[in-house]
Parts: sequence; C-alpha cells; structure tokens
Amino acid sequence: MRAADGRFWSKVIKGPRPEGCWFWVGAISDDGYGRVTVNRDGHTRAVRPHRYAYWLLTGVWLDDTPSLMHDCDEPLCIHASADPGSHLVPGSHRENMLGRIKKRRHSNGTGLRYWGVGRVAQSDRSRRLRDELLANGWNQERIAAIRFNHDPDTPTLF
Ligand SMILES: [Zn+2]
Repeated sequence: MRAADGRFWSKVIKGPRPEGCWFWVGAISDDGYGRVTVNRDGHTRAVRPHRYAYWLLTGVWLDDTPSLMHDCDEPLCIHASADPGSHLVPGSHRENMLGRIKKRRHSNGTGLRYWGVGRVAQSDRSRRLRDELLANGWNQERIAAIRFNHDPDTPTLF
C-alpha cells in the first residue's frame, strides 16, 4: 500500500459487519458527497472518495461516465468491491435513475431515502453523520438515527 492510500483509508470508518457500509469521514462537498484530493497521473485533483475507493479495490478507474451508483443509498459509503456484494455499482445515468426506483436492499437495511431530500439537507445530514462517527466511533443506534434524519439525542417513538 502506498503512503497516499494509507492516508485515504485513515479517513474511512467501517462498521462491525463485513457487509455494512464504509463511511468516508474526510471532507464533504455541498452536495453531501465526500471529496478527496489525490495525485493521479502526476496531477493533483479532487475526486469522489467512492470513485477513488472503487479504483483502489477493483483496479478500474471510472471517469465521469459511467456513473457509480450507491446501491446502499448512502452518499458517504465507499464500500467498493469487484464482487456482487459491492455497494458501488457502475451504471449509466439512466440506470442510475432506474436503480433509485428499483432499489435492491442491502442487509444493513435502513431503507434510507436520502434522494428527494434537498441538497442542503443532504450535505447537512452527511456532515452530521461524519461528525458523529469522528466523535463517538461506530454507534449503531446513533448512526441509524442520523441516517433516518432523527436527532440521536432525542428519544424516538419507535
Ligand atoms: Zn454502503
């Protein structure tokens, strides 16, 4: 592993379950997705962490197309794999839209629907999730609360 890769993985928090999401806890853009600066082909450029992770783990570098879908509906997730269980799946924009309708569920099953939420709310949600992970580590209940857009410090009715 190169030094740059170690720096990248130091900004990732993985849950206890191998099939769960891996959360990016570095910089977050205003659209709620992560952002990381990497050196690629001698040039420094800002890329999406999930695209970078996909490249690290599969060896495939995806340029702007095809898109890389989040099968788990989690913008911060970078759980890429060449296996069918990958949370990140390349697809055209059209497939992306269809995928959002015919969403296959991952077993971490939050049923999250972040899309349809405004851009500000989405980036706010991503930042709260990241800040929670950095402050308290992996606490399943608190993370689930934020993913469902509840305040983890307020008791819920269910
Ligand atoms: Zn995921």
